[in-house]
Order: sequence, then structure tokens, then C-alpha cells
Amino acid sequence: MTGIFDMHVHTTNSPDAGLSETEIAKRAVAAGLKGVGLVAHVDFHPRDFCSLFFDPARYDSAVECARGSSPGVRLLKGVEIGEPHLYEHRAKERMDGREYDFLIGGLHWVDDRMVLEAEGFDGVEPLSLVEEYFRQLQEMVSRCDIDILAHVGIFRRGLARAKLDCGFDETALWPALTDGLLAAMIERGIALEINTSGLRRTERVTYPQAPLLRRYRELGGRLITLGSDTHADPWVFYGLDEGVALLQSVGFESAFFFEARQPQAYFPGAGSGQSM
Ligand SMILES: [Zn+2]
Ligand SMILES: [Zn+2]
Repeated sequence: MTGIFDMHVHTTNSPDAGLSETEIAKRAVAAGLKGVGLVAHVDFHPRDFCSLFFDPARYDSAVECARGSSPGVRLLKGVEIGEPHLYEHRAKERMDGREYDFLIGGLHWVDDRMVLEAEGFDGVEPLSLVEEYFRQLQEMVSRCDIDILAHVGIFRRGLARAKLDCGFDETALWPALTDGLLAAMIERGIALEINTSGLRRTERVTYPQAPLLRRYRELGGRLITLGSDTHADPWVFYGLDEGVALLQSVGFESAFFFEARQPQAYFPGAGSGQSM
């Protein structure tokens, strides 16, 4: 995983994660990463475990402390806003006017259904819930102030847990919907994340998979980030090399990180980043 920016790494400033910013920075140096995008959950869904945990002052001081302890790795400060199409205003309020390097949008809940868990699919036609997931993603990228769209296709975790089929191709099932999503992202300069956390789960896939990435590229999309969605051991920075291999197999020449909300291209495994 040498020379990669892992742009999706949670720390103890998310209540579901186990390692501090300082510990993550040390591990990143040891792993040869070029940089880490630290991410704190900013959630408001009333049933979400992470709801209301975020504390911007506590997060800032933890990031500063980690930067001081490991100058050998670039630490970027980000947040993952859950369902920003519903809670963007509250998230911005909670973020307290502070500066962030990047904002990630994450969709975990489709209305009252948590699509990452088996129960999310109880008593519903699975594909109609997945279709609604894509509709809500499109709504999010059409109007929210975000830099990166997280883990498109993470409903496969819930489907796999419910022992339901997750081998379909959404670009074939709903071409107008998925094209509309990708076109809106391209128009608004929102990066598509290759999230490798599914590689450590039963479904053994990235979120998203190759067909959606291919279509994004065909439509002119170039902004891609890599993210392991690290929360705890033993899965720290897991799957990044597979993510790079996928990115290259689809034909992307570079990946991106964000600093002060500007995308910067870099070549995984090569020299330092350059401004766009
Ligand atoms: Zn997420
Ligand atoms: Zn996350």
C-alpha cells in the first residue's frame, strides 16, 4: 500500500472506531502510506449509533496532536456526514464554522431502514429498497456541499447479511438512475470513492464495483479516492492494494486526495501530489 492516500479512516472521534489519530498516524508511517484522510462521523439520524457524538474542538485537538507526533505522513481532516440531504444544515452548525480538508457524504439509512444491516431488508422487496437508495444518492449529490461520495453500493453488506442476492449490476437495472447520479457528481466535481471495506466482509466486493466505476469514467469522471473505511484492528488500511488494482483496471490514471477542499491528483506508488 506504499504511496497511497487512504481517504476514509475513522478514529476514536467516531464512537464506532477504536484507534486514536496519533495511533493511526504511526501505523500509516509504518505502512508506507503517503497520507491519511481522517474522518469523523457526523450523524443525526435518531436511530444511528453515532448520532450526536461529534465534537469539533475535541477532534481538532486530536488531529493537531497526531500531526505533531508523526510529521512523516500527511494528515488531512475530514468528516463523514450521514444523510446530508436530510441533515446538512445541522451538520454545518455542529461543525462550528471550522475548516476541513474534505467533506464526505454517506448514505446509511434509507428513511428508517439501515441498509448496512440484515434487518434493513426485513419485509421489503430488496431491489425496490436499493432503487430508492440510488434515488436518495442522486438527491444528495445534486444539492449537498460534499467533496466525496462514500461507499456507493454498501447495501451489499446488508443484503449479504440477510442472505439475499447481491450479484446484480445496478448500471444494467437502472441505467438512467445511475447515469443521472454519476453525471450530477461529474458536473459538481464530487469524487467517487473506491471503498475497500467490503473486501473484508462476506460479500468480498468493493463499494462500488467495476461496472459503476467504468460508467463514471465513460461519462468523463476522473475524481476517484481510495478509502479503507478503517474502524479498528485487524482491518486497518485493509484492501487498498486491491482498490488500486481495480482503479487501474478500469483505466484511471491517478487517484486524488483533498486538501483545503481542493482535489489533488497523485499516482499511487509514485512521487508527491500535484494541484489540479
Ligand atoms: Zn459510511
Ligand atoms: Zn465511514
